[in-house]
Amino acid sequence: MIKDLFKRVHDYLRISLTDNCNLRCAYCMPADEYDFTPASQLMQTSEIETISRLFVEQGVKKIRLTGGEPLVRRDAASIIETLGSLPVELVITTNGTRLHEFLSVLRSANIRTINISLDTLQPDKFMLITRRNLFHQVRSNIELLLQHDFHVKINMVVMKGFNDEEINDFIAWTTHIPIQIRFIEFMPFSGNRWTNDKVFSMDKILDKINNQFEFLPVKGEAHDTAKHFMIPGHAGSFAVISTMSAPFCSSCNRMRLTADGKLKNCLFSAGETDLLSPLRKGEDIVPLIHQTILGKAKQLGGQFSGTFEMLDAEKIQNRSMITIGG
Ligand code: SAM
Ligand code: SF4
Repeated sequence: MIKDLFKRVHDYLRISLTDNCNLRCAYCMPADEYDFTPASQLMQTSEIETISRLFVEQGVKKIRLTGGEPLVRRDAASIIETLGSLPVELVITTNGTRLHEFLSVLRSANIRTINISLDTLQPDKFMLITRRNLFHQVRSNIELLLQHDFHVKINMVVMKGFNDEEINDFIAWTTHIPIQIRFIEFMPFSGNRWTNDKVFSMDKILDKINNQFEFLPVKGEAHDTAKHFMIPGHAGSFAVISTMSAPFCSSCNRMRLTADGKLKNCLFSAGETDLLSPLRKGEDIVPLIHQTILGKAKQLGGQFSGTFEMLDAEKIQNRSMITIGG
């Protein structure tokens, strides 16, 4: 069992398959020119399998594949197939652009729930956020997943003055469609030009929804980062991920492995532990895993606390989101 000093059991591993992506979301990529990591420096399929097995032996019950965009990696299908044979719940977060090429692979790996990022229902705005003309591809892939009975969760990063006016359009989408909308507060990462006035907090999100819809809180799972709500009469539901205004660190069970094989004990940790180099030298990486989690800070990587309104993002030491794996 992987435990930290605060007795939090860590049984959920998020693996980034690549820091490459076919979209250019402004809140995720560094603003400056960015070179993706060469394939040779990334964990290879067999290394991902070995490391994942070690984590599973240490008690990991759930693995999420993420990135960058996990489905742009050339050997994504074989990685998914390989990890699908492990005794864990396997899930994926994707921008949705390539899902149509992976339906049968996802199904055979027993992936039933898929998180798809979509921050706007307006094609022009999608182009502004992502700098790629793939809105209709994402929308049609969401339809395709629903037709094939996958559980679909939509991740929407809410940015004040940019897409907060669309919150109720997303809620209206749930009227007849059994999707879950996850409104995510905008978080600071290296190079993403975060400022506190761009955060549209959970309170404001709920106020806005309350102007148009009646909703009720729903009890979530033990380690949920999301606060869940249902809207009577709607086929779908919604949730809010309030990292900035109401962090959920006390029940955190997450570890993150970057595509180049570094273990982060928190999304906001400044430090990271290289697992890939010692693995390539034939060393035992299990003690490193435990040491890294024992070094986990109580809250937000130990880098900030208090209200996000006072936060100076320049003082946070971290990677950009695309190189961590969301
Ligand atoms: N490419 C995939 C995708 O877009 O879903 C997976 C990787 S992406 C980094 C994972 C999640 O992180 C996405 O839902 C994205 O919206 C979210 N994300 C990225 N940058 C963020 C930020 N600054 N604040 C909040 N969420 C962010
Ligand atoms: Fe790519 Fe996902 Fe980041 Fe957008 S959020 S740039 S799709 S990794």
